[in-house]
Amino acid sequence: MLKQNITNLGIFGHVDHGKTTLTQMITGKFTDEHSEELKKGISIRLGYADFTLRKCPQCKDEKAYTTFKKCFYHNVDTQEIRKFSIVDVPGHETLMATVLTGASLIDGAILVIAANEKCPQPQTEEHLAALDLVGIKNIVIVQNKIDLVSKQRALENYKEIKEFIKGTVAEKAPIIPVSAQDRINIDVLLKVIDEIIPEPKHNLNAFPKMLIARSFDVNKPGTEINKLVGGVMGGSILEGMFKKGDEIEIVPGIKIKDKYEPIRTKITHIYRGNQEVDKGTPGGLIALSTDLDPSLTKSDKLVGHVVGRPGKTPPVWNTLKLEIHLMERVVGKEETIKVESVKQNEPLLMNVGTARTIGICTKPGNTSEFVLKLPVSASIGDKVALSKQINGRWRLIGYGIIKE
Ligand code: GDP
Ligand code: MG
Repeated sequence: MLKQNITNLGIFGHVDHGKTTLTQMITGKFTDEHSEELKKGISIRLGYADFTLRKCPQCKDEKAYTTFKKCFYHNVDTQEIRKFSIVDVPGHETLMATVLTGASLIDGAILVIAANEKCPQPQTEEHLAALDLVGIKNIVIVQNKIDLVSKQRALENYKEIKEFIKGTVAEKAPIIPVSAQDRINIDVLLKVIDEIIPEPKHNLNAFPKMLIARSFDVNKPGTEINKLVGGVMGGSILEGMFKKGDEIEIVPGIKIKDKYEPIRTKITHIYRGNQEVDKGTPGGLIALSTDLDPSLTKSDKLVGHVVGRPGKTPPVWNTLKLEIHLMERVVGKEETIKVESVKQNEPLLMNVGTARTIGICTKPGNTSEFVLKLPVSASIGDKVALSKQINGRWRLIGYGIIKE
């Protein structure tokens, strides 16, 4: 029987190790020629992919697992088991931080490691350090590109991976050799994902909360005023649900003089993938079309804001008190650097949900206080990813938990 809740997977790993290829192989997501312009625009710009895990009723063991509607071996209809959504995290570090701090944003992680390079490569190490830091336990490791290596090299690389994950949150993670490009062992991978990453529980009765990851104006330049479509926002719903016609509030909102004012509007349409739906629920990415003036949403203007019911959105903060958790060292391309405690007046880049802001430390300590350059909306207990500028680059150094 089909499980109800959508499982969010984050796909991580070094650049060129095959994240996008694997995502396409699993989801079969290429451009959908049949959808109309507006919907197509939304799904492409959100940059995510949904898939349904299916099983052949006649196949045994891993051979039964597929994402195709017909079984390769028996040519019978396969049955729907579970729905997933993959967030293909680009090499971009701040997006990575976002995925990691949006508590219920991902339910499990796929770490892709190419067999034809020595393990670990810099981003492999960085990404695992980040997963380790926030304690994401449901991890499946994909040893990709096995078509490019000899059996001996594949085994050597397997040992490198084993050594690399020792003592980390991924220590017991299964390592599945695949060729994303040649679709080798994808069935085994699907089976293991199903076993290792449990279906999340979502609270649909909570006041809904959505983190905005993209926002845009979908109108073509020169569209007549009476044909203009309202502003569109895409993002992830963490809990609760939105319905078509709902009144919503967006915080922090827009700056009027020196104060941020919440924006109120109404949901006119809801999209999931290429489909219009009546309800927006957690799992995957959702686009809300609204009555807003599209100039308010164009060019990602509302990224980082939070959508909720009027009067029920999380508080907006201009200063934050954070319980600090730092990594021991920053890993990556350059030599390993020891992370030092946060100092008075030090600026840190903070990712809070999909928002990013700079916080200047006004009171260092186990619980540190910061003044923020831009306000953020978040709840007490939420995680904030902390990055520090090292050799001209923002590097993830740890996280904080919002205190009262
Ligand atoms: P990403 O940066 O991790 O998203 O990597 P991509 O998916 O863009 O892949 C990088 C390159 O590796 C592309 O040229 C792919 O065609 C290639 N590639 C991906 N998976 C495989 C594989 O299993 N075997 C081989 N030979 N090439 C692959
Ligand atoms: Mg990619």
